[in-house]
Amino acid sequence: MVIVVGSGAGGATVARELAEEGIRVTLIEKGPEVAEKDAFRCYANTDSEVKVMRTICLGGTTVVSAGNGVRCLEEELNQKGVNLSRYLEETEHELGVTVLPDAFTGYGTGKIVAAAEALGFVVERMPKFINTEKCRSDGRCTFGCPAGAKWSALRFIEAAKDDGARIITGMQVEEVMVKGGEVMGVRSGDKVFTDDTVVLSAGALETPLLLRRLGLPETSNSLFVDTFLTIGGVLKGIGFNEEITMNAAIKFDDFMIYPHFSRHLVDAIAKKGFDVSPRDILGLMVKIKDEAVGTVAGADKVEKGITNRDAMHLSEGASVAGAILTEAGVHPSSLVATPLRGAHPGGTARIGIAVDRYLETEVSGLYVADASVLPAVPGAPPILTIVALAKYVSRIIAEAYRR
Ligand SMILES: Cc1cc2nc3c(=O)[nH]c(=O)nc-3n(C[C@H](O)[C@H](O)[C@H](O)COP(=O)(O)OP(=O)(O)OC[C@H]3O[C@@H](n4cnc5c(N)ncnc54)[C@H](O)[C@@H]3O)c2cc1C
Repeated sequence: MVIVVGSGAGGATVARELAEEGIRVTLIEKGPEVAEKDAFRCYANTDSEVKVMRTICLGGTTVVSAGNGVRCLEEELNQKGVNLSRYLEETEHELGVTVLPDAFTGYGTGKIVAAAEALGFVVERMPKFINTEKCRSDGRCTFGCPAGAKWSALRFIEAAKDDGARIITGMQVEEVMVKGGEVMGVRSGDKVFTDDTVVLSAGALETPLLLRRLGLPETSNSLFVDTFLTIGGVLKGIGFNEEITMNAAIKFDDFMIYPHFSRHLVDAIAKKGFDVSPRDILGLMVKIKDEAVGTVAGADKVEKGITNRDAMHLSEGASVAGAILTEAGVHPSSLVATPLRGAHPGGTARIGIAVDRYLETEVSGLYVADASVLPAVPGAPPILTIVALAKYVSRIIAEAYRR
């Protein structure tokens, strides 16, 4: 039997892969099981200077993703001895990653694309894991899709369950039990689950704490988050808030720009004296590869600010975003920025330090499969890479079971 801790991109994949191989799996998730459309109620963002975003519920943070599916860190992982190419291919196929047909490009996004191209920028389409037969183009991806059109880890959890996996929700694993250098199981309160294989997939803010409690190496002082802000202004009646978010990308050396609506913009613009509703705002996200100097000091104790270099890249990006929005018809006097946030926490139990190239820790049978192991700042959506890593470690564990 294998115990998996956490049910997000990493944990759900491991549970599904191993259950499919006929291995008995117990998946333990701290958060509740909620309807997909209600996942936004489970946001548990940190209160650090850069707010780190995640959701604590069955399916983890995948349930509120924007559905962006791109490869990242393939080369960096290769250099660490992990070749993910076949697992990435498999992942893209299973998640149905594709560029959406033109009919799914909203009016506001179209205006942004035209404005950026008029200014000489190259705009790319964003590959998505969204089923267009189900998608209602209602702009609710990051709330939790009401139509179940976007892939989330819930699909893999359902498949794991069908293959006999036991899924426990509302239970926080507090300790990994180890004896003589071998993993023995996990503990939550007075409940003990014994096993000789444990996979930690509690996410980059929690996995390093479980390792630290054991005195194992971790890298909780190298947290990255792909820091971002959203710039927006008034374009009356544009209805951009109801479009598929981030459905295009403009690449620069030090930052990325994506069409993006944020509810934070509404209040900020209203404070400037404009009479606006969410339907009246056009926006762009500026996202950087931040410097990995954040720290996870303890449960709910995350420190993440911005360095001089981060500030420089965010400012450059914001000025380009402002120019594109102005070209698209937004009045410059209405432009505002949201608070700084980060939605890709990772790097806190890095491969080569906390785990070896087989994603195993110094404790025999104790593995990590989540964003913690990523060896560098992605500056790009990491779900495909995390799912591929989880498939990779699942094959290693399954092989060990067959021997
Ligand atoms: C708004 C938003 C939009 C995003 N959009 C995209 C996108 O479009 N594309 C993309 O690639 N990425 C996107 N991301 C990032 C992506 O969702 C994460 O990088 C990814 O889900 C991380 O996977 P993970 O397995 O490391 O952690 P998670 O998916 O966060 O899963 C960790 C799970 O472990 C559980 N857990 C934690 N501690 C314990 C414990 N002690 N015991 C038991 N369970 C525990 C948590 O509750 C959680 O369910 C987005 C993120 C956000 C916030």
